[in-house]
Amino acid sequence: LAPPSRRPIRELPDELISQIAAGEVVERPASVVRELVDNALDAGATRIAVRLIAGGVRSIVIEDDGQGIAAAELPLALRRHATSKIGSLHDLEQVMTMGFRGEALAAIGSIAELSITSRTMDAAHAQRIDGRTGELQPAARAVGTTVEVRELFFSTPARRKFLKSDATELAHCLEAVRRHALARPEVGFEVWHEGRLVEQWRPGDAQQRLRDVLGEAFARDSREVALQLGPLSVRGRAGLPETARARADLQYVYVNGRHVRDRLLAHGVRAAYEDVLHGSRQPSYVLFMEIAPERVDVNVHPTKTEVRFRDSREVHQAVRRAVEAALAPSRTRPAPDAPD
Ligand code: ADP
Ligand code: MG
Repeated sequence: LAPPSRRPIRELPDELISQIAAGEVVERPASVVRELVDNALDAGATRIAVRLIAGGVRSIVIEDDGQGIAAAELPLALRRHATSKIGSLHDLEQVMTMGFRGEALAAIGSIAELSITSRTMDAAHAQRIDGRTGELQPAARAVGTTVEVRELFFSTPARRKFLKSDATELAHCLEAVRRHALARPEVGFEVWHEGRLVEQWRPGDAQQRLRDVLGEAFARDSREVALQLGPLSVRGRAGLPETARARADLQYVYVNGRHVRDRLLAHGVRAAYEDVLHGSRQPSYVLFMEIAPERVDVNVHPTKTEVRFRDSREVHQAVRRAVEAALAPSRTRPAPDAPD
């Protein structure tokens, strides 16, 4: 066999670099929804509307009433590794915003038609930027931002083939918004599909939001979790073992307001249910962990759903103890010594 002919090393074009990054960040419409809602929350939005067509494949429009993007910075917002959220390694270690990598908009713009219309408080009117041409145009809008994403994966048909039915993609988009809504009860959320309002969560307190998003049954069949261990706190609700389900479809864990999928934390919860839950039944829970930002690294993966803790044992124990304490009244106590 002839050895492969040597090819020279070249730097990839920007567009291709963004498309490669998009492969990690954008799996389906719900990934776009997640990134854009992250951005709206980082901008201090109090109301966020998500409008979808064909499960988000044809169109995703997200409107917020956040602080907006200055016209002069709109081209930068679309650039790779351009962010207003960090400026140094120190900032990265302290980061409390959802975003910080400056990748999402560039990645989305490389695999879909993207435009942003935004207005800041001190601007006379809004400006709209076309992601493809970079052209700026005056537009009408109140203070805040509208991001429009159309024809997801139009340039990467192989990727588009992995998408499921509109109904399934819509369900994933709804789940993405639900995850945000649980963590941010003070923010109002609306989801529209093809002109129809499919979900609306009005601003309220944490208890109300929990009932609105997860239903009365979970609120009734769960116990409050509240544990403070020095600088670490775990709060939320843990479902009663007798209401455990066949599927793990009501398990939410957040670290500093960010929804995560973390095996260590899931294991800690599972350990708390060990004695009271049998077989493969799945407990329901919503847990919010607050921890000093320097004790957790969220920069593990571009989607930031994985985290790494500086002291994982302490974290595991805290979760376990928090949930155990919540379940304590319903735990089976050892039977008193039976008198003969
Ligand atoms: P990141 O969120 O990691 O900074 P993004 O690519 O998601 O990267 O966004 C780039 C920048 O665009 C953000 O840092 C922010 O300054 C600005 N931006 C994006 N979306 C919004 C929004 N909805 N409101 C205000 N600013 C926004
Ligand atoms: Mg972002």
